[in-house]
Amino acid sequence: MIVIAVANQKGGVGKTTSAINLATAFAASGWRTLLIDLDPQGNASSGLGLASASRGASSYDLLVDEVPLSECIATTKISNLQIVPATVDLSGAEVELVSVPGRVERLRTSLASVQEYDICFVDCPPSLGLLTLNALTAADRLLVPLQCEFFALEGLSQLMQTVEQVKERFNPSLRIVGIALTMVDRRNRLSEQVSDDVRDVLGDLVFSAVIPRNVRLAEAPSHGLPALIYDHHCAGSIAYMTLARELISRLPSLRKAA
Ligand code: ADP
Ligand code: MG
Repeated sequence: MIVIAVANQKGGVGKTTSAINLATAFAASGWRTLLIDLDPQGNASSGLGLASASRGASSYDLLVDEVPLSECIATTKISNLQIVPATVDLSGAEVELVSVPGRVERLRTSLASVQEYDICFVDCPPSLGLLTLNALTAADRLLVPLQCEFFALEGLSQLMQTVEQVKERFNPSLRIVGIALTMVDRRNRLSEQVSDDVRDVLGDLVFSAVIPRNVRLAEAPSHGLPALIYDHHCAGSIAYMTLARELISRLPSLRKAA
């Protein structure tokens, strides 16, 4: 199983939208896909149609009480896609885990023996706290959504530093698989300028596929569906399919067993 953390400590940059739609794209291509919601806001869970009341065991139970992964999984309406949902309790996990030995390795440990999936996306909260550290420690690859706005690059160096620290201390094999530009507005000169600047600074780390600002991507969660299912013809869905293909091409040695 390949584990991909979707992280950026900024909120509202498209982490959850990317995690949901990439996971759906992989599931639709036949990959047995798991999405782990590690954000106490639970947006990935509600965006996949899991009402908060109906969530059973969650990522909180997985991390704090070490409930086995198999008991924390919920099915979704999408075949090949399952989720470990998040509940509000998760906001306490950062504090509850502080004094626990191996607190950063909890997620990695619970994923270690899992055989049922080809790929796992971890949707991170907007911080670099223990939850995101758990995701980075468990991950083979980090995917960073970056919103094309004026301060896009601000904060990225802090994220990169955290990646280096995690590599040194917990997970030497962690790599950044790519930076995905999100909410790109081709008609807006600032958005164009920012995406050019980001490519100048970060080069090939930036995916060629860009995610446009697209209202269907924002509407879909209120229907409890990924945009890719809600409207698979919209520009946002097409962009996520293209990004998924590019992501697969960047996972050569980890490609799904035939
Ligand atoms: P994060 O998980 O980083 O906080 P989200 O994926 O939740 O970010 O996105 C923040 C908000 O922007 C959400 O309301 C989402 O529906 C909306 N959104 C995300 N990506 C796009 C996009 N490409 N076009 C339009 N709206 C988007
Ligand atoms: Mg989110």
